Amino acid sequence: MPRNGLQSVVEPPVAKPSLLTCCAAIGGLVPGLIRPRPIDRAFLGALDDVGLPNARAEVQVLALHQVSRPVPTAILAEGVRRPVLSGNSMTSYLVRHPAATFVVDPSICTDVVDRAVAELPGILRPLVRPPDGVLDICTSLDRVGMSPADLDFALPTHLHWDHVSGLLDMPDLPVRVHAPERAWLMDGVTAPVGGVRPSLEGREIEEFVLDGPPVLTFGRSHDLFGDGSVTLVDLPGHTPGSIGLLLNTARGPVLLAGDAAWHHLQIEHVRSKASFPGLLVDADRGEALRTLHRLHAVRSRVRIVPTHDHDASQALN
Ligand SMILES: [Zn+2]
Repeated sequence: MPRNGLQSVVEPPVAKPSLLTCCAAIGGLVPGLIRPRPIDRAFLGALDDVGLPNARAEVQVLALHQVSRPVPTAILAEGVRRPVLSGNSMTSYLVRHPAATFVVDPSICTDVVDRAVAELPGILRPLVRPPDGVLDICTSLDRVGMSPADLDFALPTHLHWDHVSGLLDMPDLPVRVHAPERAWLMDGVTAPVGGVRPSLEGREIEEFVLDGPPVLTFGRSHDLFGDGSVTLVDLPGHTPGSIGLLLNTARGPVLLAGDAAWHHLQIEHVRSKASFPGLLVDADRGEALRTLHRLHAVRSRVRIVPTHDHDASQALN
């Protein structure tokens, strides 16, 4: 008791925040900032692989020419530091089916910085600015002796600017779009972060839904030509309607995975994108991580190609 007999209130000592405690506090609020999010072994073990579709036709797939830039691997795959740098690019793919030729992820338009990057939040622009020498979609097509007139349609894995801005240079090309993805981009008062509405405005759009059964470890599917050669599968998380294209090729099954992963090391180690910029670009980080588990479970059965993984893309050719 104090000598005057009155009970005093003693303030507990207040520790000054150190850089470490601040980081720990922020790390507690932002999963993965300090330590990578762990693999959910129970979820992984419970995944049911129902196998590949019964394919009755083959397609050819070609990664169009594109330039690469080195990016710290730890940004692409949370907590992965080897190799220190990985090749990152904005690749588009050409798919030839007996009934149609189409482009997947028509990534880049001419003057992309002014027409698409300028629409993004300022904090993102320096990070996503395409490298010098990036090829617009028409130049990429020209490098393989083709033009937009040779295409029947475009099919983006999702509607972020770096997967559809090339449509701005191909205004007459029809686009096939997953219905919830179109709603995500077009239905709100303003476009979501990363969305460039002019890429879809004023053009022929054919929506599809994933009305088919599970394929591999993916919950829903859509058989694009009715012959099992191109099966669209559900890869949610990065955006609400992100899809992958499971292709039956002469060299085996190929899954164009869009941005469900930025790099194959995410799939190998089941690692999210780093919190920055992942918190800004993944619509649902938890769902995106579950999708990575689904991809991890089938990585030895299917060649999985993330759109921005330059080496994985070019190895298709
Ligand atoms: Zn992307």
